[in-house]
Amino acid sequence: MQKCSRACSLWRPLTSGLFPQVSKRLGNDFHKRNIASLSALSETHQMLQKTCRDFAEGELKPHAARFDKEHLYPGEQIKKMGELGLMAIATPEDLGGSGLDYLAYSIALEEISRGCASAGVIMSVNNSLYLGPILGWGTDSQKQEYVAPFTNGSKIGCFALSEPGNGSDAGAASTTAKLENDKWKVNGTKCWITNGFESEASVVFATTDKSLKHKGISAFIIPKPYKGLELGKKEDKLGIRASSTCSLIYEDCYIPKENILGAPGSGFKIAMMTLDAGRIGIASQALGIAQASLDVAIEYASKRIAFGKPIMKLQMIQQKLADMSLQLESARLLTWRAAWLKDNKKPYTKEAAMAKLAASEAATFASHQCIQVLGGMGYVSDMPAERHYRDARITEIYEGTSEIQKLVIAGQLIKEYGL
Ligand SMILES: Cc1cc2nc3c(=O)[nH]c(=O)nc-3n(C[C@H](O)[C@H](O)[C@H](O)COP(=O)(O)OP(=O)(O)OC[C@H]3O[C@@H](n4cnc5c(N)ncnc54)[C@H](O)[C@@H]3O)c2cc1C
Repeated sequence: MQKCSRACSLWRPLTSGLFPQVSKRLGNDFHKRNIASLSALSETHQMLQKTCRDFAEGELKPHAARFDKEHLYPGEQIKKMGELGLMAIATPEDLGGSGLDYLAYSIALEEISRGCASAGVIMSVNNSLYLGPILGWGTDSQKQEYVAPFTNGSKIGCFALSEPGNGSDAGAASTTAKLENDKWKVNGTKCWITNGFESEASVVFATTDKSLKHKGISAFIIPKPYKGLELGKKEDKLGIRASSTCSLIYEDCYIPKENILGAPGSGFKIAMMTLDAGRIGIASQALGIAQASLDVAIEYASKRIAFGKPIMKLQMIQQKLADMSLQLESARLLTWRAAWLKDNKKPYTKEAAMAKLAASEAATFASHQCIQVLGGMGYVSDMPAERHYRDARITEIYEGTSEIQKLVIAGQLIKEYGL
């Protein structure tokens, strides 16, 4: 674990009563939950977890239903998350980040998503999909211009890989970038871009040499707004409705030659390595949704009376809670293992795919069971169960569908067995 003077100095006052009303309302019980997982963590990770949990409980959970209903970007909350160091957790301190590790990122993102899954994905995209590749492949001047101002929540970034004609088959990109008079001329449409509306810069993938197929794809940093860049309509989504998703349309968009990220032709590799790390983020978002579903189910089951006793006493309800908890905690271990491997500079492609697959299935399962435990109350928007159910579904689709995760896992197994 690296030193974290900036972030810790922000967390200390928060945990010691910046939000006394939150601690008072929650009482001690809230923090007693998950004590088993807490005790396995370092003191710094525990402190971060508690800080994010308090923040999510006080600043996200009370507003999440409204944000969802009104498709409202939680700008004020994202700004506060930036002030807490959550928008750039694994970014070095000298660039304005918190200088923490990926385990810290996973823990924080789970807690934020437990309060609001939309805030979770906004945070995830900025941390791993936008800042990640610029930190990994950017020049010093790119880092100064496109990392430092995107760490405190006042500016956010996005990642533009998918296109109308290719999602899973990312190597088939048809967006092009041609060098003309020392500028790259970008043409094409990127679709499904999270943070597309609010972002002030994007990491964009475009073909610089079609004959080389995926080896001819390069990565670029393109600011926004920018001449030659138009936005498509905001998508009306099933879930994570407080985060924006839209197309970025580039038409003869001329960007400076030096806005290429990494070497020409290395874009596909950059995208795949970025997604490996991103999957730890989405797995963590899914854990937050699964945990929130379990929280709601347990609370309701302890209060709802049927046949003269709380439904929690019914073994069929207990079985559901046990199954939800089992899937959640198994997925959390896989996610933390992937983060730990990344932090220790070990290969983690297979483990990140396993974590995302297991955690997204846990979120879908837990939110489905949560509705069942609540009966009719699970089906209406007075309770958060239906939102968790809608939010969970996307975790099985973006940053690689579940089918693609299985292909990644199998591909790594084939390599491991030398076949
Ligand atoms: C809300 C939302 C936010 C998103 N955010 C971003 C973002 O910020 N940036 C970005 O670049 N993209 C983003 N995406 C795009 C997302 O990553 C893609 O939707 C996803 O990768 C799937 O691609 P597709 O939709 O084209 O589906 P397709 O690739 O057309 O897949 C359709 C079906 O076929 C299956 N399939 C495809 N290929 C195979 C195969 N080889 N073997 C087995 N099954 C296969 C898939 O698993 C799926 O079930 C987002 C999408 C959504 C919905």
